[in-house]
Amino acid sequence: MGSITYLPATPVIVTGAASGIGKACAEALAAVGRPVAVWDLEAGKACAVAEQIAREHGVQAIGLAVDVSDLEQISAGARASREALGPIGGLVHGAGISGVATLEQLTPETWSAVLDINLRALAFIIQAILPDLKSQSGSAVVGIASINATLGNMMNPAYSASKGGILSLSRALADELAMHGIRINSVSPGQIETPMLMQGLEAVPEVLEAFKRHILLGRLGDSAEVASAVRFLMSSEASYITAAELVVDGGNISSQRQ
Ligand code: NAD
Repeated sequence: MGSITYLPATPVIVTGAASGIGKACAEALAAVGRPVAVWDLEAGKACAVAEQIAREHGVQAIGLAVDVSDLEQISAGARASREALGPIGGLVHGAGISGVATLEQLTPETWSAVLDINLRALAFIIQAILPDLKSQSGSAVVGIASINATLGNMMNPAYSASKGGILSLSRALADELAMHGIRINSVSPGQIETPMLMQGLEAVPEVLEAFKRHILLGRLGDSAEVASAVRFLMSSEASYITAAELVVDGGNISSQRQ
């Protein structure tokens, strides 16, 4: 087999790209030559990541402050990304919050924030860039879901609903997007060593050890290990894959270990 040429090389938007899994996705896509629009809450952090990946990988990159729970900011972000990089050929929706709250602790504000950021944004960012995606060959979208789309966990009903929503929203959109040659898939990470997970676990090292015992590969995942799965789904290597969920969890949801 000859060497693989990574296609397409069109610009991508990565949300939540100032940290963790989103940042790793931005880096992985830049490493194969894709220009990247780095979206996150703070302009400073987004610009720093964009400058870093442009310097390290020699691609065009722009950092933008976009709160993905705000539909006007989504429109403005799409416009600015297109103006800076040209028509957009891909989206990775990595922005997310955990909103830990049991049923009794749950407030309408927490519910709305989690659903708007984790789930609603995916639909409306795709809507905002749909003419771009249609115009580019090999366009693809990946939504970052979670094993919590499948597992029952009393601590995060809103989060679990938002992640289950990513799977079903993606399947529904795959039907329409396929008519335009656009693929959409979900990646469900297990426990990945990022600020989101580690902040919650710092105070409870015994929980971290229990997680590791349960995971078949015996360790937490690295953001780069999620990003390589995302990059595959964004590429022409995955040209016959749409409406799918790729679980990247080290054997977490398959494990019966205690
Ligand atoms: P992280 O906290 O390191 O990164 C999340 C990023 O999203 C941050 O940079 C944050 O500023 C950004 N963000 C939050 N709200 C935003 C908003 N309204 N608009 C724009 N950006 C916003 O977390 P992470 O662990 O890298 O999580 C990335 C994605 O992966 C999330 O969707 C998360 O649910 C999912 N995930 C993570 C794990 C894990 O173990 N870390 C497991 C499964 C799924």
